[in-house]
Amino acid sequence: MEKFVYSFNEGSKDMKSLLGGKGANLAEMTKIGLPVPFGFTVTTEACNKYYDDGEKLADTVVEQIFEKLDELEKVSNKKFGSKENPLLVSVRSGAVISMPGMMDTVLNLGLNDETVEGMAELTGNERFAQDSYRRFIQMFGDVVLEIPKSKFDKVFEAQKKASNCEFDIDLTTEDLKKIIVDYKKIIKEETGKDFIQEPKEQLMEAVKAVFRSWNNERAILYRKLNNIDSSLGTAVNVQSMVFGNMGDTSGTGVAFTRNPATGDNGVFGEFLVNAQGEDVVAGIRTPQPISEMEKIFPEVYKEFLRIAELLEDHFKDMQDIEFTVENEKLYMLQVRTGKRTAMAAVKLAVAMEKEGLIDKKTAISRIEPNQINQLLHPKFDEKELEKAEVLAKGLPASPGASMGKISFTAAEAEEAVAKGEKVILVRTETSPEDLAGMVAAEGILTARGGMTSHAAVVARGMGKCCIAGCSTIEVDEENKVLKVGNLVLNQNDFISLDGSTGTVYKGKIDTIKPELSGDFGTIMKWSDEIRTLKIRTNADNPRDTKTAVDFGAEGIGLCRTEHMFFEEERISTVRQMILADTKEEREKALEQILPYQKGDFKEIYKVMAGKPVTIRLLDPPLHEFLPHEGEEIKQLSKQINVPYEKLLSKVEELHEFNPMLGHRGCRLAITYPEIAVMQTKAIMTAAIELKKEEGMEITPEIMIPLVGMEKEIAFLKKVIIDTINECFEKEGVKLDYLIGTMIEIPRAALTADKIAKDAEFFSFGTNDLTQMAYGFSRDDSGRFIDDYKNKGIFEEDPFQTLDQEGVGKLVEMAVELGKKTRPNIKLGICGEHGGDPKTIEFCHKVGLDYVSCSPFRVPIARLAAAQAAVKAEEK
Ligand code: ADP
Ligand code: MG
Ligand code: MG
Repeated sequence: MEKFVYSFNEGSKDMKSLLGGKGANLAEMTKIGLPVPFGFTVTTEACNKYYDDGEKLADTVVEQIFEKLDELEKVSNKKFGSKENPLLVSVRSGAVISMPGMMDTVLNLGLNDETVEGMAELTGNERFAQDSYRRFIQMFGDVVLEIPKSKFDKVFEAQKKASNCEFDIDLTTEDLKKIIVDYKKIIKEETGKDFIQEPKEQLMEAVKAVFRSWNNERAILYRKLNNIDSSLGTAVNVQSMVFGNMGDTSGTGVAFTRNPATGDNGVFGEFLVNAQGEDVVAGIRTPQPISEMEKIFPEVYKEFLRIAELLEDHFKDMQDIEFTVENEKLYMLQVRTGKRTAMAAVKLAVAMEKEGLIDKKTAISRIEPNQINQLLHPKFDEKELEKAEVLAKGLPASPGASMGKISFTAAEAEEAVAKGEKVILVRTETSPEDLAGMVAAEGILTARGGMTSHAAVVARGMGKCCIAGCSTIEVDEENKVLKVGNLVLNQNDFISLDGSTGTVYKGKIDTIKPELSGDFGTIMKWSDEIRTLKIRTNADNPRDTKTAVDFGAEGIGLCRTEHMFFEEERISTVRQMILADTKEEREKALEQILPYQKGDFKEIYKVMAGKPVTIRLLDPPLHEFLPHEGEEIKQLSKQINVPYEKLLSKVEELHEFNPMLGHRGCRLAITYPEIAVMQTKAIMTAAIELKKEEGMEITPEIMIPLVGMEKEIAFLKKVIIDTINECFEKEGVKLDYLIGTMIEIPRAALTADKIAKDAEFFSFGTNDLTQMAYGFSRDDSGRFIDDYKNKGIFEEDPFQTLDQEGVGKLVEMAVELGKKTRPNIKLGICGEHGGDPKTIEFCHKVGLDYVSCSPFRVPIARLAAAQAAVKAEEK
């Protein structure tokens, strides 16, 4: 019989896919002898079975749960449902990949009208028993019965007000009893049934609720944002309760073994006396820093530090720990690898290598390539900061600088961003419902909550600037005003946030480029030592080229020439070229464009200082350079002195039903070879002049776009070589050069052996290759790709991460065929995918020489390429 339930002493950290992250690590902590309340885990397979069976718990699963429950009763020496000595449990979800805040936990399960009396007697603490019961009914009502939480909150707040209590701990036993009566009324009203009194029934309902929560909206959104496979399923952990709400000798807390925001050494976290569960993160009372525990429970604190260190040594990484103190005894409730900012990730990786905890390969593998994006982005200009007016100070919850207009709700933020505005989401505190607004906003500011509040955790995960617990501001979401003392700001006002210091500034503040030395430099250096893929950049002007070189680019993989055509002074000459009736007229116009193009290439070559530069011949259809609207055409006709009718008829003549598959790429140059001639001249003479003037050796790589057949490239290669030889003769200087092609049409991939006869390099243009392999227009597919994702047809957008199965097969085939004809053929990728870590891993695997990506992604690509090399070695 298949085993669906494991006791904590039957598992280990290596069983995450079966037991979920939480369950596997609870088992691991049990195994190494840490104080973990005993319990068992219902596996992810049971969850998948639940869905396979049409959302029903199979009998075998139920039976196995009861068997383990018997065992738990024996071990804990308590009895489920017993009045004298009741066993209470928590029911906790735990997916394979931790999904913070996405799934809900039920605590104190097993309480009913009888056992609550028993708990009171047993502990001699009636208030505690009633407090636990009201918590249980509330959580059960919310999570299992799916009654809006606000209904319970309303009753709770009303009672607090009636009894004149500032905090929940001020409520008396009698108050709590009244609350319980009202809670039960809510449940009866909402479900038509009484609150379930039978503990076993409570347990089964809770287990099913956890399985259901795998497919709640928040969980689905989180999985979508983080590309988590929806077929993994969640496990359920059933664990005997320990109580942090037993009075002043108890408490609960969360901590990291090192600072997750900065990477600094020393435990970091928060703690709350006389509290249970998520009180710490819910911002109910402001928690104390973990270090204060030393004064309150010195012995417990010592033990806590010992365990924190032990866990870090054991897992060899920074850990995120949840714990509870019951009557001055410490219990561990959760451990997992701590989420961290990019800054902390880099610092921790370097520090742990220095400490000898991990090696360099592990160190570079610890950093999520996409995450270092935040380090590459601007910070506030110090000088601007001095002038800036400080509005308030809060907790530096997630570093970075951001600026925008105030939005008071997630929906507002989304709307404003859709209109192209930058916004800061300002809330009293955030909840999972705000997720979409947080994604849209530049930064997040909350009045309440600590370093581990929802806003802080989620923002750090997204690499978004966040200031939490900014208690001197008052957020009035209803009237849409933000008050700071006497100052009142509203929706149209700008504010700036420095998430690294927690400072809120009035107005807009300019930002500057980040510093890329120190630990970041070390990680880049190690990455460069480890990787074998070269990293190039896609750049078509000197500024982007410089940025990329500063970020470590080793060449240009794609220099597009069409952007140069659009510049102010040139576009009219370009238009004259397009409107020309004869070859002679066209050549005359091209003659005027030539010096501009040459100048552009020269500037770019200079920045690259001898590194390889691949320049692509003109690619887009010519109509893109002409206006399409009647008014604009009229204006242009006056401007360039061409009769309106003639202009209009040319625009109509160039109109294509499907320009993506139309007269573009090499097809243009086949019709008008003079365009290729002019561009070749510009490419070569720019290099020749630099050789003459500065002795700089440049090997231009001329790339022909959109080739699908051998004869296309053969035809153009001859035009290009003839032009080059003419240049050499005229200038009296020779240079090395390469002529190659993009592989972006499926036919080119299929006949790559023939194309390689003429092509000295292949550069995979995976944007077009994806478009044509799928038959998806890349300009229109955005409209339905989300539907594909929502319906589980796509895990990822194939325009962002290469589809290895299909498009990747074309790439592999072309690599193989190309090498057969030309063993030393140079191979690279220049589509958007070139900066995507998963695609980079694929490129390494299939043996490309380089990837080319946008300048800001160069460091990400360096790291990803190194990780790919490490992974390949491990296999
Ligand atoms: P999440 O996945 O949202 O972190 P958890 O399952 O970790 O949810 O539960 C949230 C909190 O509930 C824990 O951090 C802990 O404080 C409390 N909790 C869970 N199980 C127990 C237990 N057996 N005894 C005491 N507190 C518990
Ligand atoms: Mg939670
Ligand atoms: Mg937890």
